Amino acid sequence: MSARDKQLVLVINAGSSSIKFSLFGAQADPQLVCKGQVEGIFTEPHFCAKNEAGEKLSDTPLPPSGHKNHDAALRYILDWLRGHTDGRSLAVIGHRVVHGGSSFTQPVCVTPEVLAALDETVALAPLHAPHNIMPMRVLAELLPAVPQVACFDTAFHRTQSEAAQLYALPYDFSQQHGIRRYGFHGLSYEYIASVLPAVDASAAKGRTVVAHLGNGASMAGLLAGRCQATTMGFTALEGLMMGTRAGTFDPALVFHCLTHLEMSVEQVSDLVHKQSGLLGVSGISSDMRDLHASDNPRAALAISMFCQHVAREAASLAAAIEGLDALVFTAGIGENDAEVRRRVCQQLAWLGVALDDAANRQRSAAPHRISTADSRVRVYVIPTNEEVMIARHALATAA
Ligand code: ADP
Repeated sequence: MSARDKQLVLVINAGSSSIKFSLFGAQADPQLVCKGQVEGIFTEPHFCAKNEAGEKLSDTPLPPSGHKNHDAALRYILDWLRGHTDGRSLAVIGHRVVHGGSSFTQPVCVTPEVLAALDETVALAPLHAPHNIMPMRVLAELLPAVPQVACFDTAFHRTQSEAAQLYALPYDFSQQHGIRRYGFHGLSYEYIASVLPAVDASAAKGRTVVAHLGNGASMAGLLAGRCQATTMGFTALEGLMMGTRAGTFDPALVFHCLTHLEMSVEQVSDLVHKQSGLLGVSGISSDMRDLHASDNPRAALAISMFCQHVAREAASLAAAIEGLDALVFTAGIGENDAEVRRRVCQQLAWLGVALDDAANRQRSAAPHRISTADSRVRVYVIPTNEEVMIARHALATAA
């Protein structure tokens, strides 16, 4: 047993209204110790935490004063963690960072220079970057001896060809301003690519489309585990319709809203990021479970549109990787929604996808195959685990 085996890795995933954390043992295959979050940071802050078996360790509202910002939420989490480390020390802290811009193509140790470079990415991801970066500064102050590693959701997509990354905008303009398809959910795709060899060795060496269908949703085409194409672009707005994001729409619509409908930039941004997608079409909810439970025809319309978008993008990505050996569903909807998977697969029957209905309805926390034995394209449900991917990167990068 090495000294590290007695240590811990803390993974921080800080968003606009929540800070999620996961604590792992610092071994080569990091094992979860506990996880939790402070949510409702600006409204009614609430802390909850569970152990590795999913049993509740804490579930408590935080006092409204003093915990209404990210800094205080992070300090609360650290205080709580001190009582749950069994005397083990932190070897490293890994952070999920949504946007790495063009500078960051792999995980990096956080230094003052890196923090300065990360500040430059705020313009690219104003909704996420400040929240991702803030905990690094707070933790550098509170735990100066513990190395920190930033892990980027964009990094996995840097293996795409230049042609796949470019928009058909003037080349020099794109170069000058860092305009390209960055792609997102890279840590999730990387995790799936890391477990695929054990699930389907031949697909891992071949052509796989992964559908990460959560509140944010995207898809990627992998060739031998490396990304060749993905649906999200310069920001996480492009591609599939999502919980509240519109996904791809004609950008000229923005000009129309600004000039003819006299909307402000903030109003248009709000419209396409927060009022669209499943919520906007259904008028009911951004949560797929609510839409299935509703008998409102607009809920049905939103579900149909979502499934059609996924099927269309799957075929488009299959063209980008010139074939399809396997299709993988992951994230909240991908892992849990048998009906969405059924409808997507039905629309892809012409590509050689044949679903095993009974296998599709079976629930399992482990990766499992849901296509028939003779389906030309193998279809899998593989639960994603971005946190363990960050823990692995943090340990490897800080070593
Ligand atoms: P994110 O990490 O992007 O917030 P998740 O991957 O947790 O999202 O997915 C959240 C979404 O998953 C929810 O909005 C909900 O629509 C969907 N979801 C979760 N469980 C189920 C389920 N049992 N059936 C259908 N959809 C589900």
